Amino acid sequence: NAGDERAERIPRYVRVNTSLCSTEDAVEYFTSQGFRVADPLSDSKAFSKDGHIPDLLAFNPAFRFHDDSWYKSGKLIIQDKASCFPAYVLNPPLGDDRVAIDATSAPGNKTSHLSALMQNRGKIFAFERDKTRFTTLSKMLSIAKCENVEPIRADFLTVDPMDSQYAQVTHILVDPSCSGSGIVNRLDHLLESENKEETDQNELDRLQKLSSFQLLMIKHAMKFPAAQKIVYSTCSIHAEENERVVQHALSSEEAKVAGFTLAPSTSVLPSWNRRGLPEEMGNPSQAASLIRCVPGEDQTNGFFVSCFVRGGKVSSSSM
Ligand code: SAM
Repeated sequence: NAGDERAERIPRYVRVNTSLCSTEDAVEYFTSQGFRVADPLSDSKAFSKDGHIPDLLAFNPAFRFHDDSWYKSGKLIIQDKASCFPAYVLNPPLGDDRVAIDATSAPGNKTSHLSALMQNRGKIFAFERDKTRFTTLSKMLSIAKCENVEPIRADFLTVDPMDSQYAQVTHILVDPSCSGSGIVNRLDHLLESENKEETDQNELDRLQKLSSFQLLMIKHAMKFPAAQKIVYSTCSIHAEENERVVQHALSSEEAKVAGFTLAPSTSVLPSWNRRGLPEEMGNPSQAASLIRCVPGEDQTNGFFVSCFVRGGKVSSSSM
């Protein structure tokens, strides 16, 4: 089916957990196992360093990591390329007194990425509402040895931004539940439907509910008094959950009160060419500040990333 065909064009990505080993060590480890540096889609023993995300390696999609000892010990984390963009764009600061929030953490891929980018220093409050997924998150953080993360089982929307323990939070990642429509092996359900009209209506209702919730999450993040940077991402291809949510967030009371605008395109992975949909933005030039990934075409799953900054200005390059 179409989903699987696209999946064949997406390398299997593995992020090196730099809290436990270096990318050079990982390259050496794989080379010693008979892998060679080449186009990962060329054959099952080829791998390469990714051109956009440091510490990300790309392997053949047929390669299975689950029995690999480095994977089991938390040195390697299986994570699609696009899902590495949010933490990288958030670019949390280094320092023992620096504090970040991951608002929606399980299973913990992006939390562990943030932790590695902060070199396991400072502090990350990692919220997760769902009980089972919280257990998965806690296990993942323990395997990846994320010592600077405090996992908290809570609904982020009930967390009081004025609580003194969050007074130093400057960076927030919001990667909430979404339709998942960008994940290739799930695309087939969109292609076939027995009762098209009913499905379309259900899908519309679902997207509306999801986008209202996603907007609430961003607006809540904007209430944290010291927040400087908020990254909002989804693995959806729908404008309803992406550009339109960003548009609503930008014109919200919360954004106006706190002074949040979109980060200039030059600070949002400028080397990535595919940007947001201009026709979905009130000011089309703002689409340059947004990142999109098209499943299959970009050697990633479908994905969307946006970045809000307090007091930021959209740079002239994106006007
Ligand atoms: N960032 C995660 C990662 O990269 O591994 C994936 C996050 S997943 C897309 C969204 C998660 O948010 C789910 O685990 C869901 O249970 C959780 N969630 C949804 N609503 C929430 C809320 N109000 N507060 C906290 N967590 C929530």
